[in-house]
Amino acid sequence: MDFTLTDEQQAIRELFQSFATKEIRPVAAELDTEPRFPGELFARAGELGFFAMRYPEPEGAGLDVQSFLIATEELAYGSLAVAACCTMQALMGSHFVQAFCTGDVRDRLVPAALAGEVRGTICMTEPDSGSDLFSMKTSAREVEGTWRVTGQKTWITSAPFADMFTVFARTGDSDSEERELSVFLVERGAAGLTVGRAIEKMGVKASLTSEVSFEDTPATCMLGELGQGVPYLRRILADIRLMTAALSIGVARAALDDALAYSKERVQFGKPICRFQSIQAHLAEMRTDLEAARRLVQWAAWRSDQGMENADEASMAKLFASEKAVHTCDLAARILASYGYASEYPVERYLRDARFLLIGGGTSEILKLNIARGMTR
Ligand SMILES: Cc1cc2nc3c(=O)[nH]c(=O)nc-3n(C[C@H](O)[C@H](O)[C@H](O)COP(=O)(O)OP(=O)(O)OC[C@H]3O[C@@H](n4cnc5c(N)ncnc54)[C@H](O)[C@@H]3O)c2cc1C
Repeated sequence: MDFTLTDEQQAIRELFQSFATKEIRPVAAELDTEPRFPGELFARAGELGFFAMRYPEPEGAGLDVQSFLIATEELAYGSLAVAACCTMQALMGSHFVQAFCTGDVRDRLVPAALAGEVRGTICMTEPDSGSDLFSMKTSAREVEGTWRVTGQKTWITSAPFADMFTVFARTGDSDSEERELSVFLVERGAAGLTVGRAIEKMGVKASLTSEVSFEDTPATCMLGELGQGVPYLRRILADIRLMTAALSIGVARAALDDALAYSKERVQFGKPICRFQSIQAHLAEMRTDLEAARRLVQWAAWRSDQGMENADEASMAKLFASEKAVHTCDLAARILASYGYASEYPVERYLRDARFLLIGGGTSEILKLNIARGMTR
């Protein structure tokens, strides 16, 4: 029992904990060896209300950031790949559509997206533009009242099965560091839209990722105002980073639970290995890192729920939680030794999956730059 949670937040934890334990964990290994979009689990997450949690009523559930992150942690405890698909839908894939679509397009897409029936993704990264996002080359031009997008995006989560693509593109010629960017909605089936085959990855394999190209592709609409892509992106980045920190806690917790259980069962030199001080030191470090990461996330989420600025806090939470998640998975693999290297046990998968957390939502190097920039401004 976490006494910092309200009754409602505790109930959300129990609901998603049960889903993760009973429905996600039993198929997580199979999804890793035979990667595919986990459609049934995605639909169940929709039934449990995950995709609508963070959006205002009446379309959404109007829950706080803290509640969304609790559910996110639990999904990642079940499988980081499944959680990555679900959070793409719940956050980046629906956010701009929910914030800016109007009229018929809104009626057609927003309720369906918040139920998980229409699937979304976000297209920012390009082959030559990763951390340096503002150097993107994809552009949009207006032709007889319709915006047409041309360019190439890569590493797009959920692209192989997405129905709607939130696309960042240049709409200005400014040479300033923050080129004028705008955001567009492109729907599957639009002329000139091509989704490449899934990229083979080290981990989070069931979270399918691919290249997407646009060739004079008509956008359904512009999302928000012309040239406002950079401020829009800045606003959602803190949410993405906090979400990634919550994913980190989920996979770290899974690694700790498995390592602890194993250390109680595995007998060497006549006693369970959890009786050896060096193993105890690993376990103590894992638990301490996990609790510290959770407090950082709760602190940043609390600031967000109070309407306070939380960009630096979200960066710190993501930096700490993701680095500690990788370290925790590594310590778990050490505790299991040869079995931590075997595909038969989930620990080697946790370690492969967790490395994604060091990249998605901004690399650790970039987060450190941002945090230091805030301090030295
Ligand atoms: C599984 C997965 C899913 C993804 N899903 C999506 C998605 O759905 N949509 C999307 O748009 N993108 C997605 N991405 C892309 C992701 O956001 C980028 O990979 C990330 O921003 C880093 O870009 P890069 O890989 O090009 O690395 P680069 O930017 O090329 O960085 C290479 C190295 O240089 C370092 N570096 C770069 N600049 C600096 C600097 N100024 N100072 C110090 N160090 C620096 C980096 O930290 C890194 O170590 C995904 C990536 C992965 C792995």
